Amino acid sequence: MTSILVSKRLQQIADYCPVGMRVADIGSDHALLSAYLLVQNIASFVVLGELNEGPYQAARNQINALQAGERASVRKGDGLAVLAPNEVDVICIAGMGGQLIAAILEAGKDKLAGVTRLVLQPNVGEEIVRRWLLQNNWQLVAESILEEEGVIYEILVAEQGDPQLPYIGKDRPLEELLRLGPYLWQSKPAALAKKWEREKAKAEYIYQQVSQSKRAAAQDRLHEIKREIEWINEVIRCLRTDKPSFNT
Ligand code: SAM
Repeated sequence: MTSILVSKRLQQIADYCPVGMRVADIGSDHALLSAYLLVQNIASFVVLGELNEGPYQAARNQINALQAGERASVRKGDGLAVLAPNEVDVICIAGMGGQLIAAILEAGKDKLAGVTRLVLQPNVGEEIVRRWLLQNNWQLVAESILEEEGVIYEILVAEQGDPQLPYIGKDRPLEELLRLGPYLWQSKPAALAKKWEREKAKAEYIYQQVSQSKRAAAQDRLHEIKREIEWINEVIRCLRTDKPSFNT
């Protein structure tokens, strides 16, 4: 098999897949993650799931070119519907919004029984994914944040277990940790401060826009955004002063 080059983001996702496991790559698109898992002999078997015809064909071509034979199966379908029960050990869902990832997991709950690990990379809406995990007995076991070509990505890893555990004994309430990420908050990597600087800039922009509105409801909204900016400022202060800065 030829070698496959992947981005830092896909590399980190692959690093979270234990060697020798059967992996589902849901929303496989270009099939780069699956191809890498096969070529590096990380996955023993890969199921690629893709909803849309174009990316499905692209994935088929990529996998055919690898001559992966029985080690890979490319399927067209919605979310976890492409999987048979107990067919995989690890499910990766990457490069979609958090809302869609949570919806895919919710709709495919019956396929999660034998799965030991979820590796999830929401482009936005990380809080929605953490909340779904918390409410569905999946314990967050690791989190990463990284910047690539100016975009900041978070990767969440979960296993079946005690979903409350990562949030216990921390210096922030649950609701805030769902936004910040309990492990990220603990390790305080530089990219986390950068992410919240960007969130602050977005909130300040919205504040400027809403402050031009003459509608009565705008005042309430302005108070809300002001509170959000104050909260973010306090988060950024903590991220700058309470150091440990390794990326977990
Ligand atoms: N996972 C790859 C990555 O992280 O680089 C590709 C991400 S791409 C932006 C998202 C892919 O998910 C698209 O190819 C899209 O067609 C597919 N997709 C969206 N909704 C889906 C669903 N419900 N089930 C399966 N695939 C889906």
